[in-house]
Amino acid sequence: MANLIRKEDALEYHEKGRPGKIEVIPTKETKTQRDLALAYSPGVAEPCMEIYRNPEDVFRYTAKGNLVAVISNGTAVLGLGNIGPEASKPVMEGKGLLFKIFADIDVFDIELNALGIDEFVNVVKAMEPTFGGINLEDIKAPECFEIETRLKKELKIPIMHDDQHGTAIISGAALLNALDIVGKKIEEVKFVISGAGASAISCCKIYLALGAKVENMTMFDVNGVISTRRDDLDDHRKIFARDLDLSLKVADAMQDADVFLGLSVGNVVTGDMVKKMAKDPIVFALANPNPEIPYDEAIAARKDIILATGRSDYPNQVNNVLGFPYIFRGALDVRATTINEAMKLAAVKALAELTKEPVPDIVNVAYNEKSLHYGPTYIIPKPIDPRLLVRVAPAVAKAAMDSGVAQKPITDWDAYESELYR
Ligand code: NAP
Ligand code: MG
Repeated sequence: MANLIRKEDALEYHEKGRPGKIEVIPTKETKTQRDLALAYSPGVAEPCMEIYRNPEDVFRYTAKGNLVAVISNGTAVLGLGNIGPEASKPVMEGKGLLFKIFADIDVFDIELNALGIDEFVNVVKAMEPTFGGINLEDIKAPECFEIETRLKKELKIPIMHDDQHGTAIISGAALLNALDIVGKKIEEVKFVISGAGASAISCCKIYLALGAKVENMTMFDVNGVISTRRDDLDDHRKIFARDLDLSLKVADAMQDADVFLGLSVGNVVTGDMVKKMAKDPIVFALANPNPEIPYDEAIAARKDIILATGRSDYPNQVNNVLGFPYIFRGALDVRATTINEAMKLAAVKALAELTKEPVPDIVNVAYNEKSLHYGPTYIIPKPIDPRLLVRVAPAVAKAAMDSGVAQKPITDWDAYESELYR
């Protein structure tokens, strides 16, 4: 409940005991002199030489295969902006904590003094030997696009910029379900998008992959509508540029729109604007901490609305934690060389399908609900749903295998699932 957290509680939580939120724990016996001789010199020389002779053995004898780097330069932290690498560290530690508790993935959080694209890419490239995967985090647009593209091209381990793709995957699942509930086709619906940054661009790209049409999308950034008549658009915005009058406002575009996607700033949409939308409007007001339109105002404007926000204190929270732990789990478990479109779409579909199944009691209890079920106020699973791990990770692993990027395919799926449950 974001609004119930007091500043002093949050500070005390981070400060008390050992400062911060994570520590390193040995996974082998370390009690005797012999244990230490195995863990370090002289015993450690044996795995060193095995790996020297066969580099793949690094996955056999070290933690690499279950170790993800969460890497940021602190240039676009949460909704806080460019607060620098040190100030981003609590977020990156927090991400490490989520990887661990939801998917048992170990994380080193890495905060870089690296503002330039080349510098950032070179530093991360040099870290490849250590990690099984890389989660790029809170890097500002447009640099984040080139950084991710270059690293994906140059490294052989899975890489994902979660602010782009996590949001796209979760909101993509929410969109498929919302459209299913109102009986509209993704190919036909009209979108209005407020925001043209890292997350909005990536969401719209995945909606295109799911069947949406670019000619049905009207996108806005802080300077107005994304139009071919503008000469200040980067290549990512150009994908969404249509021949539209520069005087067009969000309020005009909302007329008869089916879907509003907000990934911009709070309070730029009013109830009157939502009233103009088509029947059964779908509104994803995802700016944090304040959505593009306050929850109550949107609900009051339209009885037939399906509304999602980024907030935990309302139904339909678009929360990246539904994705990244399980996407990396699946990618690591088949030793995928990348996280490709097929794997992302598999995650979208797995999340969308899981929502349609009966909700376990444990989830109802955790959220103080009695009968959560698929419908306008439950279009995506809840973050603590224990089924997420066993649904999303295998779906991603399978997509990696089917798309030819898995170096260690899974053959016994039942055994894999039981392993995930442990
Ligand atoms: P970003 O890269 O900085 O993008 C923000 C975009 O909003 C920019 O394109 C900016 O335009 C545009 N913008 C700013 N003011 C605007 C206005 N008044 N009207 C229309 N567009 C406006 O940030 P981001 O990482 O994409 O995140 C955007 C927001 O979404 C943040 O609030 C973030 O917390 C939230 N978010 C939520 C989730 C979730 O799951 N709930 C996930 C990711 C992000 P210019 O480029 O022209 O400045
Ligand atoms: Mg982030």
